Amino acid sequence: MDFKKFVRDVNDFPKQGVVFKDITPLLKNPEALQKANEAMLQLLDSQKIDYVVGMESRGFFFAPMLAARLQAGFIPVRKNGKLPHDTITASYSLEYGDDTLEMHTDSISKGDRVLIHDDVLATGGTARAVCDMVEKLGGEVVQCVFLLEIKALKGEEKLNGFKVTSLMEY
Ligand code: IMP
Repeated sequence: MDFKKFVRDVNDFPKQGVVFKDITPLLKNPEALQKANEAMLQLLDSQKIDYVVGMESRGFFFAPMLAARLQAGFIPVRKNGKLPHDTITASYSLEYGDDTLEMHTDSISKGDRVLIHDDVLATGGTARAVCDMVEKLGGEVVQCVFLLEIKALKGEEKLNGFKVTSLMEY
């Protein structure tokens, strides 16, 4: 399936000069939604995953679907101040600004096998911060799988040492 048909470019969002890859047409199409999830599962080296970690906000679309198919649990990474219990925090810089992400400290235990998912890999700052948090909690980052990767921004370099795969490349 040509998944790129369901991704549209939105110019100057969320700020001037940024070309935003909008995946909402893909989410809306029943066949594309289902097939994109299955295609990402096909990209995994190992199906032995304990938890899928997904990033707020757009990582939340597929991470629980991937987890359900892998018979794994889903762990949310949220923006600062959103998680109710004790958290571990990581600050990172984005393609458009800075942010802080948090995970519950009890979300991952030593030796847990973790799959990281987000919709877009851009500069890699977000995913790197999440990989670091998972490792700090004792988890093993088995792979990072993205719906799409913006190659020119070299996110893969920032994720040096981690296995990175994407369904679509731009
Ligand atoms: P990075 O940290 O620079 O790799 O940016 C990735 C994060 O920013 C992900 O959480 C994405 O959801 C978001 N992001 C960056 N660029 C885009 C885009 O073009 N479309 C959708 N999300 C984006």
